[in-house]
Amino acid sequence: RCALLLVPATSCQDRGFLVIEAAPASPPMLATKDLTVIYSSGGRNFIALRDVSLSLAPGEVLGLVGPNGSGKTTFIRAITGVVRPAAGTVRIGAVDVSSLSQRELARQMAVVPQDPSLPPAFAALECVLMGRTPHLRLLQNESARDLEVARRAMVATDTWRFADRLLGELSGGERQRVIVARALAQETPILLLDEPTAHLDIGHQASVLRLVRDSARNDGKAVLAVVHDLTLAAQFCDRLVMLRAGSVAAQGSPAEVLEPTLLREVYSVAVDVFPHPVTGRPVVAPGD
Ligand code: ADP
Ligand code: MG
Repeated sequence: RCALLLVPATSCQDRGFLVIEAAPASPPMLATKDLTVIYSSGGRNFIALRDVSLSLAPGEVLGLVGPNGSGKTTFIRAITGVVRPAAGTVRIGAVDVSSLSQRELARQMAVVPQDPSLPPAFAALECVLMGRTPHLRLLQNESARDLEVARRAMVATDTWRFADRLLGELSGGERQRVIVARALAQETPILLLDEPTAHLDIGHQASVLRLVRDSARNDGKAVLAVVHDLTLAAQFCDRLVMLRAGSVAAQGSPAEVLEPTLLREVYSVAVDVFPHPVTGRPVVAPGD
């Protein structure tokens, strides 16, 4: 039996009523509107991103997919201010990110770049501790808590066991996990990952994506991840956005986006898509 009571919720609670409130639509944490990026090189302009409007909510994992050169990295660079958009806006809540300082931005979003340039003579732990910099005052040393946050991030990414090894002496996959640890140690509400699984074996691919998915579920982080492997993307993302030549070709649930006709059109490849026997999520396999 249900009754709709148009009275203030607090007065109902005072009287011992059960109040069923419509869940407020959670505001998008990160939103781009008509984001356009133009590169100029060799005397000509190239539109790498055209009118891309996307939003990302707290607790959500959004997978960004699309062929090579479709603008995925450019999108992440435009969000983080590495490239200046020719048009459009990027907002965190109501705040335009162009009004934030680098330090303020670094407290809001952590990035795992596609090709990070890393100082080879730094130890893995030192690199992860760099994630704490936006939380420290100028010349302030890391506290015991900073060290503990870094340690936890390294344990979670299976990198703590080589915390004292130099970056230049780690394998590509080990270095990549150190960068993920650094981003987690930054403790930001938004996490942006550009092909975080590119150099990883299947075990570490799954564990890194599970880790970021859990940090969305448990800590309410908003996660945007570029994932090339469509089956992996489908498995770990709540929603997918597919770019084609700088524009959004499709967005929706993994099953909606990973549709064979669309994939053939966008990637120029014939694929079979079938449900995973356990999760029911789409598995994408190239045909013969
Ligand atoms: P993706 O990450 O999807 O593979 P990118 O965003 O890196 O694609 O690149 C999108 C397009 O923009 C590509 O065609 C690429 O060659 C071009 N591009 C990327 N960076 C630059 C740059 N600095 N100057 C000129 N063109 C660029
Ligand atoms: Mg890229």
